[in-house]
Amino acid sequence: MVIGYNVRWTCTSGPGGGGSNNPDPDPNPGSGGSGGSGDGGDDECYDCLPTEPIPGDEECTTSLCTLDTVLEPNALEAGTRLWMSSQYRQALLSDVLDFIIYENDNSDESKLFSIEGMEAERNGGEVDYEEKVIVDDSFKDNQCLMNVYEAMGKAPIFDNYLQNFDSDMSVANLKFGADPNFASNRDQKYNNAMAITNPPLNSNMINIDFNTDPSTSGNILNKPDVFKAVSLIHEVLHAEMCRKMLDAVRAAENNQTTLDWANDWTPIQFQQFVESLENKYFGIFDYYTRYDWDENAPNNAQHQQMAQHYRDVVKQTLTDYDPNFTAAQKEALSWIGLNSANIVAWQNLTPIEKQTINNTIQNIQNIFPNGCN
Ligand SMILES: [Zn+2]
Repeated sequence: MVIGYNVRWTCTSGPGGGGSNNPDPDPNPGSGGSGGSGDGGDDECYDCLPTEPIPGDEECTTSLCTLDTVLEPNALEAGTRLWMSSQYRQALLSDVLDFIIYENDNSDESKLFSIEGMEAERNGGEVDYEEKVIVDDSFKDNQCLMNVYEAMGKAPIFDNYLQNFDSDMSVANLKFGADPNFASNRDQKYNNAMAITNPPLNSNMINIDFNTDPSTSGNILNKPDVFKAVSLIHEVLHAEMCRKMLDAVRAAENNQTTLDWANDWTPIQFQQFVESLENKYFGIFDYYTRYDWDENAPNNAQHQQMAQHYRDVVKQTLTDYDPNFTAAQKEALSWIGLNSANIVAWQNLTPIEKQTINNTIQNIQNIFPNGCN
């Protein structure tokens, strides 16, 4: 029986995790749109009207018209449409059309992803239409963060998780961003977080925002690269859980197409959502039932589950990322973001075990290299 419900935002706590810093925030969507600027581009195709493509017509015009036909009117920001009309964007335009029309059968999902993707590229970001992952310019512009991301992409487990977003069956897409105004854009209880994964609230896009705010203790640019690696896999694990939750909620056909339970849902709808998990993703169902539903248990179902079941994934990813870490180092690193007083798996450690882990994390923080310096 559900009595109340809470929204969980998810984050990677900084090192040392401190007991009172229970990530238990209020909803604060702020998907941080990066709109604006762009380089304009030329307008040679801008007058193209949204009509059926004309066979044999000039390729440029035909492609843009096809895009107009495929997307809802005005779905694409005028400036982005103009930017896409440039002859320099013909290859991109073809990729987008292939992606929507031939690879995804005109699905609404693929259209929304493409719109976000084109806008991200216009702003200098990077889009992988294969894996359905967008790397925002805010993230890409931090070369040292990008270096770790690219190194992690060679780690099979990390890459496998990313690939879960690429299948034709995938309901969710993923976007990596960095926020230099992390503190002012969300509750200050997150100032210690290196990153945050925002559930898909308005669409099927899961946004992972990294904290690059110099005014916060969580600023990931101040942390060793291995912390960035841990944060990346930690957030991708959250994203994977969100993806499954979105999948469950859509499969249940309760007229819910996002995870926006903060704004729209009644307790009954939230109950339906949790029940939808039972049939598809029992592990997540189990943890949400045990923790977020049960008012007498600590909250934070995702972190409870990760601490109990996913630390081996983190350790294996670290092995792939850099085979030189010792077992003790990987053990300690796997607790980053999870070594909080309210996490049951952490509570189950002895005081000496906790102290050893925290000391090792601190030691790594002090001596391991940070490519951002
Ligand atoms: Zn987290």
